[in-house]
Amino acid sequence: MINISAISIQLLIITIIVGMILIFIFISGKREKIEAAKSSYVLGTVINLKAFGNKAEKAINKAIERLNNIDNKMSVFKEKSYISKINSKAGFGIESVSKDTYFVVKKAVEYSRILEGAFDPTIRPLVKLWNIGANKEIVPEKLKIEEALRYVNYNDVILDESNHKIMLKNKNQALDVGGIAKGFAADEVRDIFYKYNIKSALIDLGGNIFALGSKEDGTPWRIGIQNPFESRGEFVGILSVKNKSVVTSGNYERYFIKDGERFHHIIDPQTGYPSQSKIISATIISDNSIDGDGLSTGAYILDIDKSLKIIEEIEGIDAIFITEDKNVYTTSGIDKNIFTLTDEEFTSVNS
Ligand code: AMP
Ligand code: MG
Repeated sequence: MINISAISIQLLIITIIVGMILIFIFISGKREKIEAAKSSYVLGTVINLKAFGNKAEKAINKAIERLNNIDNKMSVFKEKSYISKINSKAGFGIESVSKDTYFVVKKAVEYSRILEGAFDPTIRPLVKLWNIGANKEIVPEKLKIEEALRYVNYNDVILDESNHKIMLKNKNQALDVGGIAKGFAADEVRDIFYKYNIKSALIDLGGNIFALGSKEDGTPWRIGIQNPFESRGEFVGILSVKNKSVVTSGNYERYFIKDGERFHHIIDPQTGYPSQSKIISATIISDNSIDGDGLSTGAYILDIDKSLKIIEEIEGIDAIFITEDKNVYTTSGIDKNIFTLTDEEFTSVNS
């Protein structure tokens, strides 16, 4: 008798434990499956956020709030942004800015140095002349381009670190952080998602992508590299990444056609005209999107050897460059597990 009741108590305990485990698996499985997705228009582009997790919806709403906040602080199209305020005081006054605005401008100047001036946040007088971002682009007169070129010089950005103050040395100079702010914004969204315990998400800010964690099933995110000669959605190859930023600057992103000639939105600070380098698509793979954004815009302008050399020298950062002759150059950190060339019209060249 004693033995039988001992066995039945044991059985009961085992049944309860197994039951609890099953309930736990059921609940946690359900939790993980919660998915939320939203699109919006902010930072001058269409953004798409997709997240998996219990608090996915809340996290996405908070992220969009933050994106609007960044736009309000850093847009050149908003009169009250810190960037506009710095620009309106160029040559005579220093402006107190928010910590995040200071960080973005400081990073932009750092990348200007690394990229030997190909990237330059004081590019605004030229961007304005070409009317980029305002949807009324024009080909400016040569004389006006020459005049605007005189104001472009990242060495004239005066940074007062201890007080978070910024000033432009000369009148008519102006900042434009459009080439780096989306990267910063993607990092901010990632950090908000972490706070809400999101372990899997795709943050797409107008092609500036952060693939957070892995896909919900644990496999890497697959990011297509746009074929720069074709319409959107046609890919040259596929990148498989976990927890990485993938940022591409390309001639197909923003452009206009005048008299049969195509003018895109990345201006070479040496010439004042849209970059004429052989690179027509520059993708940077990095841990932080701010790095990818700054580097992709600048590397796009430089010649291929120089861009490859600069990226190789930076630890933890890799690149895929496509040139107009349909060659695809990859840095040494990109192997077959990470990038597969899918379009046979393109030729792979490893650095
Ligand atoms: P992205 O799409 O990140 O390559 O950045 C392009 C945007 O950066 C343009 O729309 C301009 O606002 C700005 N931009 C254009 N040329 C440059 C340049 N040489 N350096 C820094 N920013 C630039
Ligand atoms: Mg950029």
